[in-house]
Amino acid sequence: MKIICIGRNFIEHANELNNPVPVDPVFFMKPESAIIRAGLPFYYPDFSRDIHYETELVLRINKLGKHISEKFAHTYYDTIGIGIDFTARDLQSICKKKGLPWEMAKAFDGSAPVSTLVPKSKFADINDINFSLKKNGQLVQKGNSGMMIFTFDKIISYVSRFVTLKIGDLIFTGTPAGVGSVEIGDKLEAFIENEKMLDIAVK
Ligand code: MG
Repeated sequence: MKIICIGRNFIEHANELNNPVPVDPVFFMKPESAIIRAGLPFYYPDFSRDIHYETELVLRINKLGKHISEKFAHTYYDTIGIGIDFTARDLQSICKKKGLPWEMAKAFDGSAPVSTLVPKSKFADINDINFSLKKNGQLVQKGNSGMMIFTFDKIISYVSRFVTLKIGDLIFTGTPAGVGSVEIGDKLEAFIENEKMLDIAVK
């Protein structure tokens, strides 16, 4: 399986990192080894001094698809969860400055903790899902799927023009404003609506 991540999908987050608001979705990938299953800790890597959390809703692909039309995209995922797109911001800044790919900053082992996924039928409106992150008990990020520049369906349709989506692939759909750094000893808690979905200790 693979993990596809959308960058700059919330206007306020694009602004906070001084990035332009994209015309088409920006995407990149993480390998399977990036996943941390719910409940397991994140080990701060030795190659970065500025690891940031980015809280994102995550979709799981349930059907093989290529060139998926936006109209049918909703039939290609049936569960939703929440994850953290951990980013070595210091390395990413170097990559951006040099025009290099981002893998070193984004795709490292453990960079993608993911909650258990729940059926999307649980949500009355897919385009109105609230999600949030607490760091050490304090609310640091808050988003709603309705604030995304590109909807889930648009993302699936766009990405599948380039990359075949397979059963089990995960899509991280982009982070709202409020990203920030973590330190060893921090505790992160991610919520969908008021339900805690993910608990991560930074070690
Ligand atoms: Mg992200």
